[in-house]
Amino acid sequence: MVFECQKCGQCCHQFSITLTLEDMNREPRLWQVAIPIQQVGNPKTRAYMAEKKHTWVIGKSHSGSACPFLAPNNDCMIYETRPQICRDYPQGAKCIREMQ
Ligand code: SF4
Ligand code: SF4
Repeated sequence: MVFECQKCGQCCHQFSITLTLEDMNREPRLWQVAIPIQQVGNPKTRAYMAEKKHTWVIGKSHSGSACPFLAPNNDCMIYETRPQICRDYPQGAKCIREMQ
């Protein structure tokens, strides 16, 4: 069955959106909001980034706050050039909404 996103926006709030250089080059606006791995305080996020070789993460004001590219109607404002991690989600698993 093909996954159909319900555009609830929860994944764009809950997850750390980690980035590769390829992501940054595909969408240069990411440079304006990206935080380098050296400045990431959460040890779990840092470990994930190191394992995946993701060297930046989209900065958010606090954990659980929205990605700055999430529009009020829950559209992604950079949909065509969004990061790979957003393209892949939920990777054949259940998304947050489906688990509730
Ligand atoms: S949590 Fe699931 S349904 Fe909601 S926006 Fe993300 S992928 Fe779509
Ligand atoms: S880049 Fe787009 S799809 Fe990815 S978290 Fe931000 S708003 Fe959601």
